[in-house]
Order: sequence, then C-alpha cells, then structure tokens
Amino acid sequence: MIPAYIEDELSADELKEFLDHIDVCPECKEELAIQFLITEGLNTLNTGDSFDLQSSMNEKVQRSHRDIDIHSKLFWIRNIGVALVLIFGGIFGVYLYSFLG
Ligand SMILES: [Zn+2]
Repeated sequence: MIPAYIEDELSADELKEFLDHIDVCPECKEELAIQFLITEGLNTLNTGDSFDLQSSMNEKVQRSHRDIDIHSKLFWIRNIGVALVLIFGGIFGVYLYSFLG
C-alpha cells in the first residue's frame, strides 16, 4: 500500500485508511519515510533540487488529509443532492397522483 500511496494511486477510502493507520503505527510510518526517501530522493537527484525528507513527507501527508476532507465534502453534497431529488420526486409523484386520481 505504501508504494501506491507515494505514487498517488490509492482511492479516497484507501487513502483515509492508510493515513489513519500511519497515525497509529510507527513501523508503517517509518517504512513510508524510507520508501518516500528512495522515491523522492531519486527524483530529486534527477532534477537537482535540494531535498528535505521530513518536510516533504509531512507536506504530502497534509495534502492527503486535505484531499480526504474535500472528498468527504463532495460525498455529502452528492448525497444531499440525491436526497433532495428523491424528496421532490416523491412530493411531485404524490401531487400528480392526487391530481389524476
Ligand atoms: Zn502498520
């Protein structure tokens, strides 16, 4: 799961699970730091930028938390939208039924 995280290939649900786990599991956090260092370190060698592992990794984790926030907001907006359509559809259906009946 860690390589998938570094490559941004996790779904939002997986991402949330992963971040929750990283918060409570020092082993996985360390594993993430090592893999992040390898992946990002190699990229940095190619680009020649200076590289601060700890802050880069924290930045990525922070960004992931924001992504999850945005995702859960969109999730609620979509669900509320569906609920409104169902409610108004229901009201309209009842109205139509009583009008025709
Ligand atoms: Zn773990």
